[in-house]
Amino acid sequence: MNIAIINGNRTTAFSGGKAACPFCDAPVIAKCGPQREDHWAHKGRKNCNLGKENETEWHRSWKNKFPTEFQEFIQYDPSGEKHIADVRTKHGLVIEFQHSHLDPKERDARERFYKNMVWVVDGTRLKKDYPRFQKGIGNLATKKMNGYFLVPNPEICFPADWLNSSVQVFFDFLGDMLPDPTDAHRQPLWCLHPKRVDGKAVVSMMSRESFVELATNGPPAPQAPVQPAVNNMMLPAPRMIVDPRFLKEISRLIPELTRMPPRRRYRRF
Ligand SMILES: [Zn+2]
Repeated sequence: MNIAIINGNRTTAFSGGKAACPFCDAPVIAKCGPQREDHWAHKGRKNCNLGKENETEWHRSWKNKFPTEFQEFIQYDPSGEKHIADVRTKHGLVIEFQHSHLDPKERDARERFYKNMVWVVDGTRLKKDYPRFQKGIGNLATKKMNGYFLVPNPEICFPADWLNSSVQVFFDFLGDMLPDPTDAHRQPLWCLHPKRVDGKAVVSMMSRESFVELATNGPPAPQAPVQPAVNNMMLPAPRMIVDPRFLKEISRLIPELTRMPPRRRYRRF
């Protein structure tokens, strides 16, 4: 976890720090060092939702791209059960980062609970995930219109578990790995939209920086369902999760992405 409680204050980890878990109140200790992002960990194994210490660096570093006040946001459902969102912005948009396998039933439950949410999924979990996407998006009968790809068979691009999500799913194909610098497909996030146009999946891409910027400072989420126009067609959508202005912003960003700068090389410590 990135945030713990000291004297009632949400605090990020610092060397030698001791704090309380915001979820279960048990003591946690700071883990700081050159190898990993600073974080808090329970003392010993604890039966705590935040205490399942299988959180990856990928997960921590994504959360850390957002202000600390957005991170690990706790809220209660009507039964009084606590839920923790990886990120919840000031506009109430919840962003969940998912590295490990997630049961579609659990995915569905979280989408129904948060409603105004998007997923960011590690697209490198299985060895075949990225090669499948690369082949699918590059070779097949994808049609690009107004910055959107229409993909007739999304299952040839994306993991089956995410095809029926009711919200936008952003795939991060960079994972924790350093990619081949010539491989431009890994650099942006690829968004699988929840709606279909003539049975085709709608896919778009967005730079990581734009995603963080839009999610952090973007327009507030709509209070009522709105149907967005994609490729001048109205999507037969039962509900729309993300503000249509957000989608408009995505398409504005597309030309920018086609002129992507060469990938920066990051030093590994
Ligand atoms: Zn805990």
